[in-house]
Amino acid sequence: MDEQKQSPNEQPPRGHDPRSALRPLIYTLLLFMIYFVLTQYMGEAPESISYTEFKSQVAADRVAEITIQNDIVTGKYVTEQVEKVGDGNFPRADFKTVLPAIEDPELWPLLVAADVKITAKPLESPVWVQILVSLIPWILIFGLFFYSSRAMRGAMGGRSGLFDFSRSKARRFEKESIHIGYDDVAGVDSAKQDLQEVIDFLRHPEKYRKIGAKMPKGILMMGPPGTGKTLLAKATAGEANVPFFSISGSEFIEMFVGVGASRVRDMFTEARKVAPSLIFIDEIDSVGRVRGTGLGGGNDEREQTLNQVLAEMDGFSPEEAVVVLAATNRPDVLDPALLRPGRFDRKIVLELPQRDARRKILEVHTRQVPLSDHDFLEDIAARTVGFSGADLANLVNEAALNAARDSRDQVTPDDFEIARDKVILGAKREQIMNEEERRRVAYHEAGHAVVAAYALNSDPLRKVSIIPRGRALGMTEQMPMEDRHHYTEPYLKDRLLVMLGGRAAESLVFDNVSNGAADDLTQATKLARKMVGQWGMSKEMGPVSFPQSEEHPFLGRDIIESRDFSEETLKRIDSEVIALIHESDEKSKRLIEQHRSQLNALAEALLEQESLDEAELQALLKPVQAVAIANTKD
Ligand code: ADP
Ligand code: MG
Ligand code: ZN
Repeated sequence: MDEQKQSPNEQPPRGHDPRSALRPLIYTLLLFMIYFVLTQYMGEAPESISYTEFKSQVAADRVAEITIQNDIVTGKYVTEQVEKVGDGNFPRADFKTVLPAIEDPELWPLLVAADVKITAKPLESPVWVQILVSLIPWILIFGLFFYSSRAMRGAMGGRSGLFDFSRSKARRFEKESIHIGYDDVAGVDSAKQDLQEVIDFLRHPEKYRKIGAKMPKGILMMGPPGTGKTLLAKATAGEANVPFFSISGSEFIEMFVGVGASRVRDMFTEARKVAPSLIFIDEIDSVGRVRGTGLGGGNDEREQTLNQVLAEMDGFSPEEAVVVLAATNRPDVLDPALLRPGRFDRKIVLELPQRDARRKILEVHTRQVPLSDHDFLEDIAARTVGFSGADLANLVNEAALNAARDSRDQVTPDDFEIARDKVILGAKREQIMNEEERRRVAYHEAGHAVVAAYALNSDPLRKVSIIPRGRALGMTEQMPMEDRHHYTEPYLKDRLLVMLGGRAAESLVFDNVSNGAADDLTQATKLARKMVGQWGMSKEMGPVSFPQSEEHPFLGRDIIESRDFSEETLKRIDSEVIALIHESDEKSKRLIEQHRSQLNALAEALLEQESLDEAELQALLKPVQAVAIANTKD
């Protein structure tokens, strides 16, 4: 396989080689020092004479000129030949003497009488100080260079030399130093189960060898960011009690070109030396992208690194107790060569945690945090739909910070409430709205809320506020009863009503609308487009799917624009989408008109209190909600 032959060491040296980058530096420094030595000592040194001798020479009128600098006097005798050295920049003095520390009142009249030409030079620090001062920038540059390579060496476990850039930059964790286990990873039971086998293999490789069972070499974990992939890898090494080598795909290529591949080789060599061991390649998508795509020279580097990974994985036998774990949140861009048998042929998918998992993750992260009560975590778990494990860890921390700020020794549900708003919407902003704007925002949010309260298939209201946070001027929060996997048509239609409710209220109350509803409209249109084009929820289009883009499985944004249908179809979809939105807008307005008194009450309460919680909302909306619930039962 020609892939294996590509070793960076056999390539012609590139401009980025750190060693060649250093060379000019050393040369410059050497030249610099030579220059100094030459200028200081070139030519014969002037004759040193005593101060008394100097004075008598002056008195005898034999001194033509002197130069005084600091306490050194250099001078020339009256002889006519003035020798010059080199280009004349360094006129040779004839004599040199040192002024005594005791002021000599006789000297000055003597000099004047002898008509000696006197040149005084400003005080100057001694030569060695000058050299040092001019060396400072060089010392700094060297120091920095040395320091960074030291730091790198530290990261490599202290086994590599100063300029050993090609050595594995993997962080190596000795088995004793890994203090996390599966107890610290919550809510990913099926992934843990899949990895249990690997742990057993790493613990007792002989058992597997004896019976001829082959362990997969590579396991690929995929899932959205923050779902615990990195954590799980480390915990797996902790459980298996084996050395753990961890490197991130982006680290392979971050520093100098041409070293990624040799790092891979070094890492595998070391891991095999200490087998059984676990290698973890985080963010493998940054090296493992489909080859032949991408731009520029970095791509070349990535390909080499990827080739080296593949070569190494092919190179060791399944009996060797080295398991390679890799993680990515972009499985869609991975080179298929990575996924072939004998490489990363096992896959573990990590999803965003469901309610129960969220509760368990919260428990893990509140182990060290004194809570006023543990039961409220249940409620927090219910209200953190869409949070990843990392988000939940962050939430707990923010809540604890909040309690600490108030010098309390227990963390309360209120702390979590504040932390949650901060995590979701960003920090509170200074009040920047004037009264008129606040009124508009209050009615806008009250509009969303009233529609949410009286539309029959929508999630219950949790909270409404007009406190500006992040980009939002206000917010209306509904609580999904459970994490939903399926959305029914009536539910989605009611969502459209709620989305449009803010704008509807504005237009009813103020007789005009504002750009504050822009986000609502974008969302509503996007949803309507899916309902019509992909989920078969319009009579006109029927149950046919016309995807206009493909959403990324983990990142929630569109990655592919695709359109396998005619212009004609597109036009029909457009007009159906528009019809659906118009219809929803009408309904939304009607609902608000029917509940105009509640709308006013809500908006006024908001203006006064800024934020209304579940109970307060219920009190304000109660009478009619009872009717609404009664209707649902029919
Ligand atoms: P990923 O690698 O998938 O992006 P990480 O493993 O880096 O996610 O997770 C970041 C942090 O989030 C972890 O250090 C941990 O504190 C927390 N976390 C994520 N998932 C979990 C989980 N399942 N259980 C406990 N903590 C978790
Ligand atoms: Mg990670
Ligand atoms: Zn809105």
